[in-house]
Order: sequence, then C-alpha cells, then structure tokens
Amino acid sequence: MASQDYDLFVIGGGSGGVRAARVAAGHGARVAIAEEYRFGGTCVIRGCVPKKLLVYASRFADEFRDAAGFGWTVPEPTFDWPTLIVNKNREIARLEAIYAGNLEQAGVALQRTRAVLEGPNTVRLGDGRVVSAGRILVATGGTPNRDAQLPPGGITSNEVFELDALPRRVIVVGGGYIALEFASLLHGLGAATTLVYRGEEILRGFDLDLRRALRAALQARGIDVVLNRLIRRVHSSAGGLHAELDDGRRLDAERILFAVGRSPNTRGLGLERVGVALGANGSVKVDAYSRSSVPSIFAVGDVTDRVNLTPVAIREGQAFADSEFGGRPTAVDHGLIPTAVFATPELGTVGLGEEAARAHHAQVDVYRSEFRPLKATLGASTERMLMKLVVDGATQRVLGAHMLGEGAAEMAQLLAIALRMNATKADFDATMALHPTAAEEWVTMR
Ligand code: FAD
Repeated sequence: MASQDYDLFVIGGGSGGVRAARVAAGHGARVAIAEEYRFGGTCVIRGCVPKKLLVYASRFADEFRDAAGFGWTVPEPTFDWPTLIVNKNREIARLEAIYAGNLEQAGVALQRTRAVLEGPNTVRLGDGRVVSAGRILVATGGTPNRDAQLPPGGITSNEVFELDALPRRVIVVGGGYIALEFASLLHGLGAATTLVYRGEEILRGFDLDLRRALRAALQARGIDVVLNRLIRRVHSSAGGLHAELDDGRRLDAERILFAVGRSPNTRGLGLERVGVALGANGSVKVDAYSRSSVPSIFAVGDVTDRVNLTPVAIREGQAFADSEFGGRPTAVDHGLIPTAVFATPELGTVGLGEEAARAHHAQVDVYRSEFRPLKATLGASTERMLMKLVVDGATQRVLGAHMLGEGAAEMAQLLAIALRMNATKADFDATMALHPTAAEEWVTMR
C-alpha cells in the first residue's frame, strides 16, 4: 500500500466524507479529501443548518402574535431578508472554516477541486493530476432534481439561500419534507405561498393522521395547498412568472421553487468506467459495510441513497473508517431513525406509522391525543397538538411515536432512545409525568 500516494482518497467533503477522512486519519491512515464546492457539504452549506436558521427566523411571526395575550405591546414588526442572509452566511462561513480546520488538524490533505475516478485505485483532480490510493471513498452526496422544464425564475433549494430578496409570492412544487419546510418558512417570513403537489396527500411514507393534520394546519395558517395537480407550463412576463396547472388554473408568482426530490451525485464521476455497480437512479450500490462492487471503492451518505440524512451519512462514514482502518468491522443499523419535518407546526417521528405497523403486525393498538397546548390559552394560536403511539398488540412494544406541534423534533430524538430499548406501553405508563409540559402526554395516554 505504501506504493500509493495515500491509503485513502475521499471524494466529497460533506457530512459522510469529512467524518470518514478524520476518523481514518486518526487510525493512522494517510488521507486526502477533495471538495469541489465548500467543505461541510450540503447539510452545512445549503441544507440542514441554514434551513433551520431560516425556520427560526420564520417562527418569530408566531411569537409576535402570541405576545399580546401575555401583556406585551409589540410595535408592528418588520422583517429584513438581506440581514438574515448576511448573518446566515457569516455563520455558514464560520462552520465551513471549522470543518476544513478540523481536517487539517487531523493531518488530512485538502484538495479544493473536483475529483473523478480514473481507475480502481486512482483519481484525477481538476488540474489534471492523477493521485493513487489504496482505497477510494465516494461521498459525493446528492443534487436537487430539476424539473424537466425548470423555467427562468424557477429555483431549487440551493438557490433559496442566496436570493437577494424574499419573494412576495412564491409557488413551491413538491410534497416531501424539503418542499414543506420551505413553503412553511417562506410563508412565515411573509411570502404569499402556494404548494403544488401531484400526490393525494403530502409526506408520502409518514403516518397518515400526521400527514393530514400537518396539511390542514398549513392551510389554516394561510398556505394554499393544491393536491393532485401538476404544473403544465410556466411563462414569464415583466409582472413575474405565470404557472398553468393541468386543470387550467393559473397561479402567479415571483419565484417557483422546485423541491421534487434529490438524486445521487454520480454523473461524470467515472464510476461505470471503473466497473462500480449503480442503482437505477445512479446510486452507488453498497453492502452493509459500504463496500461497492469494486473491492477498493466504497461509498457512504446520500450517494448510496439508503436513508438520506446527515446523522446517517456521519455514522456510515465512521463505520467505514473503523471497519477499514481501525480493525473494527462495523455495520450501520438503519432501523428506528428519528426524523423531523421542520415545518410550522413541526412534525417529529420515530418508528412505524399506523399503516406500516398494520401491514407488518397482526394486531396494532393506537393511542392518540389531540389537545390545545397551555401556551395557546393566552396566545393567539388555535392550533392543536397531535401525538400518537403505535403499539404492537401482541407484545405491547411501542412500534412508533408521532407528533405534530412545538418541540416535536426534540421529543422524537428522546423517544428514539426508548423505542430502541424496546420500551412497551407499560414502560411509558409507569414513567412519571413532568407537569406542565406537552411531553407528559406520552406517559398519560389511555
Ligand atoms: P453531502 O453533504 O451532499 O456532501 C457531498 C459533497 O461532495 C458536497 O460538498 C459536494 O460539493 C462534493 N462533491 C460532489 N462531487 C464531487 C466531486 N466529483 N469532487 C469533489 N467534490 C465533490 N438532513 C438531516 O439530517 N436533517 C435536516 O434537517 C436536513 N435538511 C436538509 C435540507 C435541505 C434543503 C437539503 C438539500 C438536505 C437536507 N438534509 C437534512 C440532508 C443532508 O443534507 C444530507 O443527508 C447530507 O448532507 C448527506 O451527506 P453526504 O456526505 O452524503 O453528502
């Protein structure tokens, strides 16, 4: 292996690649990592982190409205998009520098360039140099699907973070978590928002009660939700963009955000040439140890299209490095991954939804609690919280916990621990309540 330039060459400096590079270097490997855009990757630069900052910004609207009932007089609030974007950019630049600095500190060689595969043990860098390595890790993430006819003025989530102004009217196309989060935050910041989704109900794959409740809540807040519809064509004029739906309805907007899924970022990487087996959507096919069909080539994160979330990419990167360089073969457990939709209201979930549970278990008990949170008694909101426990009737094991309302994501993280420990409904019931909280409902559901 010493005849190679490096023991490991990582392509992609995002969540999975950075973790793998640092841990492998910690195990004593000689490591290089190439990043063609910015270290930190999607999550840090144009995903989880900047999105959550925008979500926080959007939620002040609720706080201002609620304040009066608690005795506060708040002058008419105004919002300045450029201030938010400048502050967000400052924080992202800080994080990016930390990621790059941590890699350098670990002794990883940084290549700020695109890298593609040249052979099973070689990569070609942007400047034409060819570098060899004992192992190559593909951690190139994913990219937004661009609707075939992405019109001028049409954008993806990548561009939202850089808009120079908040659009006054926006159409968001899609029904997945990214579409809902952006529809929600743009609406909260003041944009008149329409969501157009081709399916029957938003958030395919989640518990149906929660899907319906979130959709109804978004509508009650004033988002125009159009289901079972496609945009047939878009034309632009001096007045903005004009979308025509397949039922003839016309919608006007300054921007149309297409959040219609993401695809593995493998185009032009040279994987086919080297003989790496790919899935139908271009994902790198891997086994439980992130090994591709070529023995020297591995892949982690969104490019493998397993569960496309940052903590999963990080775990896969860690497990790869421990397996290949730490002498500790480790497979990642992809079960019971908690997840959230940072819409407002927020949705948090772990485990099976009611429909999925019924498909796998003969008897399923469902506990459901819907209530007005204490804060709403004096505040301006009429929104209700929804919590749901899905329990295996035979063993009484809790199979899923689902929630819509403030704090749902934070609760889902903690519920995931209980579910991983095979908690039963009796364990939930035996746990003392913490009063007054919304979370106490989890242990008082009958
Ligand atoms: P990435 O983080 O995408 O990193 C891949 C890197 O590789 C990129 O930096 C790219 O520039 C680089 N690259 C690609 N090709 C090359 C090449 N040939 N040479 C050199 N460099 C290359 N996940 C959550 O867990 N929670 C969230 O709230 C959440 N919100 C999200 C919101 C949005 C809008 C988006 C788009 C995603 C969100 N995600 C969220 C998903 C999360 O961002 C991804 O799952 C995660 O970033 C995947 O990490 P990765 O290492 O696989 O790839």
